[in-house]
Amino acid sequence: MTKVVAITGASSGIGEATARRLAADGHRVLLGARRTERLEALSREINAAGGAAAYRRLDVTDAADVRAFVAAAGERYGRLDVMVNNAGVMPLSPLDALAVDEWDLMIDVNVRGVLHGIAAALPVMRARGGGHIVNIASVGAYEVSPTAAVYCATKFAVRAISEGLRQESGGDVRVTLVSPGVTESELADHISDPAAREAMQAYRAVALRASAVADAIAYAVSQPPEVDVNEIVVRPAASA
Ligand code: NDP
Repeated sequence: MTKVVAITGASSGIGEATARRLAADGHRVLLGARRTERLEALSREINAAGGAAAYRRLDVTDAADVRAFVAAAGERYGRLDVMVNNAGVMPLSPLDALAVDEWDLMIDVNVRGVLHGIAAALPVMRARGGGHIVNIASVGAYEVSPTAAVYCATKFAVRAISEGLRQESGGDVRVTLVSPGVTESELADHISDPAAREAMQAYRAVALRASAVADAIAYAVSQPPEVDVNEIVVRPAASA
């Protein structure tokens, strides 16, 4: 069955690959992020290839904006079946660096952004008798590493929120948590701490293609309604 899928953070990396993959599978996708020129180019590419894509500027830190994004799926395609809460940031640094603004940013985007996505999508899905919320966490939702305490805390939170939502969903809203290991994307480009930035280079050498994570998301989305894939962890085979 083809679905209407809204994807946050679709302007690069995993979100972009997920848009491509789900559109190729026949789903209609609504793309959200702040860099609209990227979204426009991606929509154009998907539509030119025979898929169905639309886009809207989105800042997930603004709850009203996320509600408007979800409403746009209804206006454009008449419904929303799947919400992929993917937007995230990872400005790593040691706690001693006291990068309070970057801590706040990670909490705002990675935690509040996901909650805003749930708050916007849940009533729309409940009103139609069901839906599917896919949250993107990280292997950092299961383990903490140096320079990543706050980032991991946000991803532990996304995991906790996803499990709580699953327990309370009553079966009509499916909940999937997808937790990638290191993946090719622009995520590490915004690390301002020099030591954390350098440490990421070693990890990036074995990074997964973003399409590998998109494949995991597509697997969960493609299951029949009675099957709820709750957690998927995808790591590069070469990672420790
Ligand atoms: P990218 O940096 O390539 O993509 C992040 C996306 O989030 C971009 O599209 C960006 O768009 C969007 N974004 C950031 N801030 C906001 C905001 N305030 N409002 C709306 N969109 C926003 O990184 P990834 O593709 O790697 O990241 C996707 C998800 O995967 C994140 O949640 C990340 O934590 C997670 N992840 C990534 C891993 C990796 O190794 N790459 C490993 C584990 C998890 P724009 O700037 O245009 O708004």
